Amino acid sequence: MITFDNVSKTYAGQTRPALRDVSLDIDKGEFVFLVGSSGSGKSTFLRLILREYKPTKGSIYVAGHDLGRLPAWRIPRLRRQVGTVFQDFRLLPGKTVYENVAFALQVIGKSSREIRTIVPETLDLVGLGDKSERLTDELSGGEQQRVALARAFVNRPPILIADEPTGNLDPTTSVGIMKLLDRINKTGTTVIMATHDSTIVDQMRKRVIELSDGELVRDQSKGVYGY
Ligand code: ADP
Ligand code: ADP
Repeated sequence: MITFDNVSKTYAGQTRPALRDVSLDIDKGEFVFLVGSSGSGKSTFLRLILREYKPTKGSIYVAGHDLGRLPAWRIPRLRRQVGTVFQDFRLLPGKTVYENVAFALQVIGKSSREIRTIVPETLDLVGLGDKSERLTDELSGGEQQRVALARAFVNRPPILIADEPTGNLDPTTSVGIMKLLDRINKTGTTVIMATHDSTIVDQMRKRVIELSDGELVRDQSKGVYGY
């Protein structure tokens, strides 16, 4: 589903690469934790998958696209195949739960009939079926992250990227979000999650990829957060 082939990324004006000679394969349906200290290259790795940057060296393949050959006009289609959630939720303010999720389908041209079916189904999946008319600003952090997950997953993308999705949540709420990510993963969606949450990584026992100073230093199946 995702291949990095000898990928390096050096930002303009920098001498040290943010990512150095990274090669790996992530298969369809895998759940992968991306760990490493701050500045180790995790966000750079995720942003390369979304084609926010091009690598300085090497090749990246995502859901059948060779990102080095992807023309700019096809980038939106790539991004439709990669749902994203972030630590800070990034919801539309002043809009309801329903509208936040429906918007993701409106922008890709789904009919209102489809939207009226799919949005409630997806809100039920994340346990927010009874809150669709609430403004997201009024919800708890955990509920807001559920809305973000519903929005990311509502068009059933083959890949979901989560950048510290539990970073702003208490431990109990985080467990709920992880259960949802696990459920989404079990539908066949490939999940890649960058995190500093050692408790969660140690509980889930999924593949763990560790970056250090831009280098891939560990790739462990059923892994733990650190040694
Ligand atoms: P992480 O997500 O693990 O904290 P990042 O990928 O954000 O790591 O950063 C990796 C390295 O690249 C760091 O040294 C960071 O300062 C640098 N970096 C990240 N983004 C940029 C940018 N837009 N311009 C220049 N340097 C950057
Ligand atoms: P259109 O007028 O384009 O056909 P819809 O009738 O699908 O659009 O939706 C119009 C508005 O009605 C939406 O913005 C949404 O806020 C609200 N809405 C529609 N269905 C639901 C629902 N099941 N739950 C909550 N709100 C809904």
